Amino acid sequence: MAQEKIPVGILGATGMVGQQYISLLNDHPWFEVRYAAASPRSAGKKYAEAVAGRWQLTKTYAPHVGNIIVEDANDVSRAVAAFKKGGCSFVFSALEMGKDETRALEEQYAAAGIPVISNASAHRWTADVPVLIAEINPEHTDIIPMQKKARGWDRGFIAVKPNCSIQSYMKPIHALVKAGYPVQRIIATTMQAVSGAGYPGVPSLDMLDNIVPYIGGEEEKSEKEPLKIFGTIENGVFKNAQFPKISAHCNRVPVTDGHTACISLEFASNKPSLEEIKKLWAAYKGLPQEADLPMAPKQPIIYREEDNRPQPRKDRDADKAMAVVIGRLRPCNVFDIRFTALSHNTVRGAAGGGILNAELLKHKGFLN
Ligand code: NAP
Repeated sequence: MAQEKIPVGILGATGMVGQQYISLLNDHPWFEVRYAAASPRSAGKKYAEAVAGRWQLTKTYAPHVGNIIVEDANDVSRAVAAFKKGGCSFVFSALEMGKDETRALEEQYAAAGIPVISNASAHRWTADVPVLIAEINPEHTDIIPMQKKARGWDRGFIAVKPNCSIQSYMKPIHALVKAGYPVQRIIATTMQAVSGAGYPGVPSLDMLDNIVPYIGGEEEKSEKEPLKIFGTIENGVFKNAQFPKISAHCNRVPVTDGHTACISLEFASNKPSLEEIKKLWAAYKGLPQEADLPMAPKQPIIYREEDNRPQPRKDRDADKAMAVVIGRLRPCNVFDIRFTALSHNTVRGAAGGGILNAELLKHKGFLN
């Protein structure tokens, strides 16, 4: 007999990332969207009305989702009432509002007994909140019981995912570090898609025929977040890793979806050959294979041998848009190696990554 699906809610359901959640969860075998919330501007409307004229994806939403009445995400009591009626077991947060407001609101949901799997940056630096890339640091979920105990939360907790700009190169670097080749220094130059700025995002006259060499806060996030992801849990909080040191240049480019990164890196001591690196990337799995998580890519790192790949339009959808695609691995004249990496920012870097984290948390017994 088919298992009953877990009812989930989406906060920020009408935005760029919220729409991806709605779309990706359409046929999900474990989770079903039954609750949607956004700003007071959308509250009270049917979901179909709230996104009319601003639905951005080619795949549409399920008919039952179109009929959901959108709630005000600031009113936690509505989600609690839905939870009590069996209509919202946990929420994905794709809110775009002030950082302090988001932080406080996500805590209110967790305190009210509703786990929050978030895409927002508000809690990435909260000392007892895990920043998860499911393949890299699944053991960081071990902090959740400590987080709940310290805050007196019984059922709720907060887990977040990192910035979309680092997704394409974190797994390839993790594969090397895990194999005994620690990385000392990285220079990362990103070319980030316009969908990364949400909807309506950057004005078209700033974007067409142009590149904008600044994305507020993005370079700081790219330089700091990997250190927490590679960190360890000590006394109920995260202790950051010291390395790699990262220098990031983040640029907005006129591409709809898919963040590309040019990476130069230096190893701390041992240096693998280029052939060995390709073998490590091909063998990289990360997740416990017995878990068989529905959103997990079969091949998390795909290497393309062609000189002119990866390219956003041709490679961003690889393996449900959840794989990262790498190319142009070659020696670096200044550091040790360099390569180009690509990942889909609103799927792997946002909603798909959030769903994979929720699948991991369910597999580990944190969600039901
Ligand atoms: P977006 O398109 O601007 O959508 C924002 C969502 O937040 C909408 O549903 C909006 O509701 C809601 N909202 C805005 N103000 C609110 C308020 N005062 N109270 C309650 N809800 C409010 O943004 P996005 O690109 O989807 O990003 C969502 C989150 O994901 C952000 O934290 C962002 O940093 C993060 N993220 C985005 C990406 C990406 O590639 N886009 C990648 C990784 C992480 P209305 O429609 O009613 O205004």
